[in-house]
Parts: sequence; C-alpha cells; structure tokens
Amino acid sequence: MEKLDLAPDLAEAIGSGRWFRGVGTLVGLSALALAMWPDFSPLEAAPAMELDDSARDEFRSQMIMPLALGADSGRHMGATPSVKQLENAPERPQLEFLATLAKGDSFGRMLQRSGVGSGDAQTVSELIARTMSLSDIEPGTQIDITLGRRSSAGQARPLDAINFRARFDLALQIDRIDGNLSLKRIPIQVDNTPLRIRGLVGSSLYRSARAAGAPASAVQQFLSTLGDQIDMDRSVRSTDTFDIIVAHKRAATGDRQAGQLLYAGIDRGGKSQTQLMRWGSEGRFFEASGVGEQRSGLLAPVPGGISSGFGMRRHPILGYRRMHSGMDFRASSGTPIVAVADAQVVGSGRMGGCGNAVRLRHGGGMDTRYCHMSRIAVRSGQSVRRGQVIGYVGSTGLSTGPHLHYEMYRNGRAVNPASVKFVTRAQLSGAELSQFRAKLTQLKQVEAGAALVDLKPAAPQEDVPVREIDKIAVPKKVP
Ligand SMILES: [Zn+2]
Repeated sequence: MEKLDLAPDLAEAIGSGRWFRGVGTLVGLSALALAMWPDFSPLEAAPAMELDDSARDEFRSQMIMPLALGADSGRHMGATPSVKQLENAPERPQLEFLATLAKGDSFGRMLQRSGVGSGDAQTVSELIARTMSLSDIEPGTQIDITLGRRSSAGQARPLDAINFRARFDLALQIDRIDGNLSLKRIPIQVDNTPLRIRGLVGSSLYRSARAAGAPASAVQQFLSTLGDQIDMDRSVRSTDTFDIIVAHKRAATGDRQAGQLLYAGIDRGGKSQTQLMRWGSEGRFFEASGVGEQRSGLLAPVPGGISSGFGMRRHPILGYRRMHSGMDFRASSGTPIVAVADAQVVGSGRMGGCGNAVRLRHGGGMDTRYCHMSRIAVRSGQSVRRGQVIGYVGSTGLSTGPHLHYEMYRNGRAVNPASVKFVTRAQLSGAELSQFRAKLTQLKQVEAGAALVDLKPAAPQEDVPVREIDKIAVPKKVP
C-alpha cells in the first residue's frame, strides 16, 4: 500500500498508465464528493399527527404537569417501588399570620386562640402591660404573629415574634432573643395640628368642602352643628365662605385620623359671621361673637317695626274693642322668627285663632308665644338658643295679613312685652371667657390645609446611654 501512488502530478507524463490512474482517482473522488452534496430541504419538526380531544387528554395524563396542577386529568399513577411513605407530614418551620383583636376580647385570650401557648401569652401580656394598659388597645387592631418550630409533637409552637400598632403613636414589637421574649417600643411621630378647611360654599357646601379635602365625617358634623344654630337654606349663600376646623392627627407612617369638630364658621363677605366653637366638657358650641357680652334686653323676634302694641284696641277682624294681649310686628311672609332668649319649646302647632304658633318657656316663670306662622321650625320639647330660628312669618289663624303676633306671659298672665327686659347672664365670664377667646384666636391661626401635608419621617434618634458612666465612655460630639 505504501508503494501505491494515489496522488501523481497530472502535469507530468501525460498519457502514461500512471497518469490515467491519477485521472481515474480524481474523477472517482469528485463523483463521491458530489454524491455527498448536502440537501437543504426543510426538516420535519413534529410528526404530522391529528390531535383530537381524546388524544390530547391521553397525552396530558402521561405528563407531569397535570400532577402539578392537582392531577385534574383524573388518572392516577401507580406508585413505583421507589415511592416511600413518610412517617408523618413535615411541618412548616414557621407560621406567620394576622390576628384581629375583637371587641370585648382580651389580648391574652386572643393570643391563645391563635395558637400561642399559655406561657408565652402570659409573658407577652405582662410585657405589654409594663408599657401601656392592655385595655387601651383598640378593638380591630391587627396583630402580626410569627410562631416557630415546635420542639416535639403535641406541644404548642413557641412564639417567635409579635408586631402591632398598639396606639396611634406607638408600635410594639416583641421578639424572641436568646430564648427570651423582649419588647421594643417604636414610637410613631404624630402631629396634632387641627385640620382647617376653608372655601367658597358654591352650589353645594358638602361637595365644596369634600373637594377641598375635608373628611366626610367632619363635613357631616359641620352641617349638623350649623344646622342646629342657623337656618342653612336661608342664611348660607353660594358666595359665602365656609370654615371648618376639626381635631386631626397625622402619623409619620402616613395614617390620618380626623376627630371631632372644633370650629364651624360661615363668613358672609366680611359683613356678618357665624363662628361656632366647641367649648367645655359637654362639648357645646358657643357663638364666638356673642359670647361674654352682657346680654340684656330682648332680641327682636323679627326685624321689623311694631304695627300694634299691647292694650285695648278694636280688633281688625272681630270688629269690636278687646284686649290685644301681645305685640304685632310688621314683616313679610317667610321672614325667619327667632327665639328672644334661650328656652324650651313647650308648644308647637295649631293654636286656635293664633294659627300656627310656638310657645317657649324661658325659666323664671316667663313664656313667649309667636303666632300666625306660615311654617314652624321646632318641635315641642326641644331646646332653643337665643337667636335660633323657630319658624317663619305667615298669616294663619285670625289674621288680616302676614305679620307676627308676639305674646309674653309672666306666671301664666299676659304682660306687655315692651315692659319686660330679659337679663341673661353671660354664658362665659372671667378667666373662662379669656381662655375661650385665647383658644379661638389659636384655632383661627391654624393655616388652612396645613394638616393635609404628609409628615416628614423623623430623623433617627441617637441612642443616649442611660448610665452616667456610659456617657463618659461615649464622648459627646462637639458641633
Ligand atoms: Zn296681634
């Protein structure tokens, strides 16, 4: 084979036997190379098999996927010899869940119901009780509980951690450190700036106030408080400015809590104002502009002149002389009638010739009665304040036209209203009055919308050593 010359030079000895053998080898190898020329026709990727539903189900039952999805094919694979049964199901190393403190529930009971052992529950309750009263934790508080691995079967899982917001301004964290539970207080920065919202009344006071950022509860309190004092339909216009101040807390965590209404105001273009401020332990609202004034004399029940005084006169309808037991005020129909002093409503409704009427009892044996109303705005038994609207002028009963017939009684006997001066003591006086004024000034200095801004997160507090010796060890930084 070594002697076999397979690659002769075809340029030498052309026509010799060696040359022809060389040409033959070249032609043969070329033919072989051409015969092995690759074919570039596309490869068949998948077997062309018709897959109907039953064939697809068959395939699915053979796959692992249906097992992962809960073996929804309905087929069961037989266990192979390599499948071994566990002695008991493995437990999760940790359980994390959220428990909620229900109303009327105790903290310890809630923990035990959630699976915390009685010893741990007792320890946790004691730890918290050192910081705050357990009864101060609001019902509905959600508590993050983490339980660890139990040391042996049948035992309660040990408590690993508890996290919850104990108060609006305090979060508590209890962790197991070196086998012992320890509590960490995490104070939450809270700002108590009241929330003040001012704006134009517009077409709807409710919607305008809500649009300006007032919480719904605050607007409702505002409307009901004002509604008790003034007639909202008549005395609030769309061009007036409302002023709402509510107690408000905002935490650095971003939560907000609106409290009770502190101030309700309506500013009518600077001309007249309604300024009601909550004051005193009973939480009553006082009209700021009237408070502290020595209020003597009577408020006129309607703005308008006196058309007929008290005394004998010829009755315009009955046509004969008789006692006119009251005082007539000129006023057009629909004019609001106000209580002349604080009182209790003792009568409200139809009263014979008096028409629709309201009778008020002011104390000290004094009563007043308001007749011929077109509409009554108070119920019997209700308390009314001086200046509060009790009804509207009309011409019901024995009346020739819209006017207010106003009567006054002392110990049940009609007296001339012009002869009586009510002297009502100031509701607030002395130190309390100046406190009231100071509080009002302070409230009205609150900037509108200031409390809507988010609090900046507090700067991390430096740990100040408790013991004096530690303070020496850590020298104070000199600025
Ligand atoms: Zn009259």
